[in-house]
Amino acid sequence: MNTEIIRKTDKEIADLIDKELIRQQNTIELIASENFTSEAVMEAAGSILTNKYAEGKPYKRFYNGCENVDKIEEIAQERAKKLFNAPHANVQPHSGAQANMAVFLYAVKPGDTVMGMDLSNGGHLSHGSPVNFSGLYFNIVSYGINEKGEIDYEEVRKLAIKHKPKLIICGASNYSKIIDFKKFKDIANEVNAYLMADIAHIAALVATGEHPSPFPYADFVTTTTHKTLRGPRGGIIMCKEEHAQGIDKAVFPGIQGGPLEHIIAAKAVALKEALSDDFKNYAKQIILNAKKLAQTLMEEGLDIVGNGTENHLMTLDLRKLNKTGKDIANILEEVGITANKNTVPNDPQSPFITSGVRIGVPAVTTRGFKEEDMIEIGKIIAEAVKISDSKDIEKIKQLRERSLILCKKHPLYA
Ligand SMILES: *Cc1c(COP(=O)(O)O)cnc(C)c1O
Repeated sequence: MNTEIIRKTDKEIADLIDKELIRQQNTIELIASENFTSEAVMEAAGSILTNKYAEGKPYKRFYNGCENVDKIEEIAQERAKKLFNAPHANVQPHSGAQANMAVFLYAVKPGDTVMGMDLSNGGHLSHGSPVNFSGLYFNIVSYGINEKGEIDYEEVRKLAIKHKPKLIICGASNYSKIIDFKKFKDIANEVNAYLMADIAHIAALVATGEHPSPFPYADFVTTTTHKTLRGPRGGIIMCKEEHAQGIDKAVFPGIQGGPLEHIIAAKAVALKEALSDDFKNYAKQIILNAKKLAQTLMEEGLDIVGNGTENHLMTLDLRKLNKTGKDIANILEEVGITANKNTVPNDPQSPFITSGVRIGVPAVTTRGFKEEDMIEIGKIIAEAVKISDSKDIEKIKQLRERSLILCKKHPLYA
């Protein structure tokens, strides 16, 4: 948390980092993809390992002097395999999107048909959005969610039989139900497609058994390391042994140059943390917190897509209230809560306005928030929604105070 050394040469950046620390400490973070890493993870990420070039795989590098980073990367790989029960792990992807890109490079050719969840239904950009490489270079067939907020597996199956994709992607950025990986595998088998499970959001839940594992069903499993998994910003690809060499080649030299060994060391530290009992308790608490928050919001009269959650996130559905995700996310920020606007099924509003707000609890759970705190957060959100039109300054101030009390109760990096 120390910016003393930066300050000596660059006061401008040091000041902004210090301000950002205060923002994080004094805000209730409900962005479902964010979290707070341990100081150990940050120390590794900020270490001298940033100085080292290490293109290639451990013990098979293109540069000399890799004896230490070889061991570090090997430890990260072994921990990822152990945590997820994976046959093979590549810990080099710089991000979740890079992990997905590498799987595309290995598994499909430009023009091939790929099936993924539609972005506005909760999928990720890298699952075939027209503005992303995945949508630009591949023939994308998208599936969505129904009004109940669930994947209609029969619909997915029909689409797969009709379009014969080479690759089917499951996993999402905004989906609050358990994903049935076996059903996806059965569909993939029926049309002879590869199955990729992108567990970026649910990684910690999968690692601890709070969500079923995509193994042994998926051919490829990609994840980010910075969401529920609580590591540094980055990605991991896991796969069956038969794809190991091809996936490794797709990452390097396919789409990346030198790996970020400082980040890989931070991944190793985070993976060790994730193998602990503390982490199991954290994952359990995520589920308890999410359920309690969803319940409170519904008791306060708000709609939640799918009437609740089975994981770490939920989406407020504002259609009935004629309010927009954009306005509500903005008023929440004013009262000290960050969350992001998000589309709901059949959203009448554009993706820039939306009728929903995505809410996730991993970050506050890391801070130590428990069910009783979720009730208070739910009430603050409900009040904020109520006053969003009037923008009553006094009320906003009161709600901001209540958010601050929760933040002070659970100090961050104190
Ligand atoms: C966040 C996310 C990603 C991408 O991660 P980045 O590290 O931001 O590139 C990929 N897939 C899913 C499902 C995600 O939620």
